[in-house]
Amino acid sequence: EQDVTEYRKSLSIRVSGFDVPRPIKTFEDCGFSPQLMNAITKQGYEKPTPIQCQAFPIVLSGRDIIGIAKTGSGKTAAFVLPMIVHIMDQPELAKEEGPIGVICAPTRELAHQIYLESKKFAKPYGIRVSAIYGGMSKLEQFKELKSGCEIVIATPGRLIDMIKMKALTMLRATYLVLDEADRMFDLGFEPQIRSIVGQIRPDRQTLLFSATMPRKVEKLAREILTDPVRVTVGEVG
Ligand code: ADP
Ligand code: MG
Repeated sequence: EQDVTEYRKSLSIRVSGFDVPRPIKTFEDCGFSPQLMNAITKQGYEKPTPIQCQAFPIVLSGRDIIGIAKTGSGKTAAFVLPMIVHIMDQPELAKEEGPIGVICAPTRELAHQIYLESKKFAKPYGIRVSAIYGGMSKLEQFKELKSGCEIVIATPGRLIDMIKMKALTMLRATYLVLDEADRMFDLGFEPQIRSIVGQIRPDRQTLLFSATMPRKVEKLAREILTDPVRVTVGEVG
């Protein structure tokens, strides 16, 4: 325990919550499949970043998480890799029943980046990834969603549009990520986020990432996460 405490202190990492799993040090420690390890190596990732070291064991154990770390700290892989494991752990992949993993991001640029990162790790498994954001044809997106996907990455407004058009349902969703929650609030997406969360089963796993934790985001986190572990890396939040 002492070494973990010292280690976290040396990297300005603060962790709170009960029964927090010990951080991992290597990708091998995570028990990822050979296929996933291959994709990680192909990416040129040699070792997990500090937020990943903390987040992987928490998220892989099924716990909710609040991750606070500045831009560039590797938060995307921190939620994408455990999401692949979560999807592969499903007893069977029923087709055309809507996504299992749902990721909300504030802007189309961010959604697209997460899409590219997810594709790299999802592809070897034949996991289907759809990106849904403004500026693209709604009809095209409708058709793509109708053909089925396991992961959807979306801006909140466009995801609501697609749900209203019955392009997808949230019936199969069990892994929800709110990325850059503070920016989504800044952009006025709180009602859309609440609506999306309200459509996903309450026993889902919920992950919230943010660079800062304004009071409104804090309040949402208290309402929608269950016994989360909070990980803060660096002098932020
Ligand atoms: P954040 O979401 O925290 O801003 P990103 O997830 O966008 O950060 O990651 C920033 C960069 O670091 C990306 O180019 C990503 O590919 C890279 N990266 C992520 N994890 C690792 C790792 N373990 N080793 C090396 N590079 C990584
Ligand atoms: Mg990010």
